[in-house]
Amino acid sequence: MTYDRLVCANCAAPVIEGRCHVCRANRERLQQDNLFAGLNPMALITLLAVLIAAVALLAHQTA
Ligand SMILES: [Zn+2]
Repeated sequence: MTYDRLVCANCAAPVIEGRCHVCRANRERLQQDNLFAGLNPMALITLLAVLIAAVALLAHQTA
């Protein structure tokens, strides 16, 4: 998602310019969302790998 054309509800300026405290808060929140969106696939892969290892370990112990 791109937010460079998002207009602030408080000052009606582009949020990316950060003209008021609402702009800056929104910009920070959106940048955090972007960061998490970038991290999520990697976190999911790690979680999946841990889960597979746990299942394999459990299967090995019960067999
Ligand atoms: Zn604003």
